[in-house]
Amino acid sequence: MTMSETPTSQALPKAAVYTKLNAVKGMNDVLPAESARWEWLEGAVRELMSRYAYRNIRTPIVEPTALFVRGLGEVTDIVEKEMYSFEDRLNGEALTLRPESTAGVVRAVVEHNLLYDGGKRLYYMGPMFRHERPQRGRYRQFHQIGAEVLGFSGPEVDAEVILLAHDLWQAIGLTDVRLELNSLGQPPERLAHRAALIVHFEKHAESLDEDAKRRLYTNPLRILDSKNPAMQTVVEAAPQLLDFLGPESLQHFNALRSILDANGVAYTLNPRLVRGMDYYNLTVFEFITDRLGAQGTVCGGGRYDYLIEQVGGKPAPAVGWALGVERVLALLHEQGQAMPDASPDAYAVITQEQSLPMVLKALRALRALGVKVQMHAGTGESLGSMKSQFKKADSSGAQFALIFGPDEIAAKAVTVKSLRDGSGAQRLESLDQMDHWAHSLQSNP
Ligand code: ATP
Ligand code: MG
Repeated sequence: MTMSETPTSQALPKAAVYTKLNAVKGMNDVLPAESARWEWLEGAVRELMSRYAYRNIRTPIVEPTALFVRGLGEVTDIVEKEMYSFEDRLNGEALTLRPESTAGVVRAVVEHNLLYDGGKRLYYMGPMFRHERPQRGRYRQFHQIGAEVLGFSGPEVDAEVILLAHDLWQAIGLTDVRLELNSLGQPPERLAHRAALIVHFEKHAESLDEDAKRRLYTNPLRILDSKNPAMQTVVEAAPQLLDFLGPESLQHFNALRSILDANGVAYTLNPRLVRGMDYYNLTVFEFITDRLGAQGTVCGGGRYDYLIEQVGGKPAPAVGWALGVERVLALLHEQGQAMPDASPDAYAVITQEQSLPMVLKALRALRALGVKVQMHAGTGESLGSMKSQFKKADSSGAQFALIFGPDEIAAKAVTVKSLRDGSGAQRLESLDQMDHWAHSLQSNP
């Protein structure tokens, strides 16, 4: 049915029907000019994940709100002010668009009893949602790629996930990131540190902002994560968690550090690194760049040995990280990395409408042999002259034009013309012998 046949469209004033609709603020379209880089990055991730024997998991984008409140912690930026939460209109269920994926992965692992036969190494990719102030590197829908290893408690697994991230930077050519490392210890150590923190911040109550005052007795560790420049002095002078670690936590941390050292992975200790969620213990880390302004953290993670239990599972340790796809891509762009080539190998120039059935069949046969072929589209008036078709062939980026003219069709053949080497060389190829010459069209077989 066309617009004019729609009864309601005639009843409505024109302006109401044709109002332009835009994407939600802070949520971006990834257009083809850019999506080539996304697909390339995702491909590099899949390849590396399979070399490390990590397997893909895909969980829903909507989860029960309680999962995040319980999992991430009630007194966190995400749960307090960033979640897209809503009530299901049909049954009143409290739901939330996932702001991160660790909680959902843990829920799935528990729900499907995935740890029954030992630990699991998993990875995911996908959109996350946080109601933040949109700015460069900070969006309301953004994308993460994450790795989660569940069921192993040793420092060698902390090392493995960090090495995996490090190898990913190498695989994609990301150079300007540095690794910051800290240990949050275990709950009793954090409790002792918490008491010392409260004493410290009480002494400097006058320099605390609203958020910090509110969190002083509920979650003082969060104050260390404050981005308020006015509070940096009092935050810097705060007692350090590292000084409260017992021998076991220190041993775990030191074992991790020796593995990183042996692998030539440089890092700096940052005793103030606490991360945004409450679920972390022992190792926490971030990969940071100075080239993206305030949104400099490209990847963050750590150990979360108590989350599985909090989500209702049998207690089991875990460690993981998540990277921000937009930030990684922005950094690659900043480094001047060229866009991967998404052009076709060949562009089919078609001179007469009646040959279309045969041409489309020939093009499919070429594609089945691995050639990337773009068909010239148009019939009647819009078929276009040879000249205009060649213009389109040129702007498609194709290396070759495939000319299907009357002589070619009669001879069950195609003229292959070189578009880029300046020679303009052309040759006649038989459609019956396609498997002999198709590969010569491929630039990236
Ligand atoms: P930040 O401190 O920048 O707010 P975060 O600690 O909230 O980051 P995590 O929850 O650890 O971030 O998420 C892991 C990664 O996801 C971040 O390091 C970042 O690269 C990316 N990320 C987080 N929030 C956003 C966002 N709103 N827009 C784009 N990327 C984001
Ligand atoms: Mg944040």
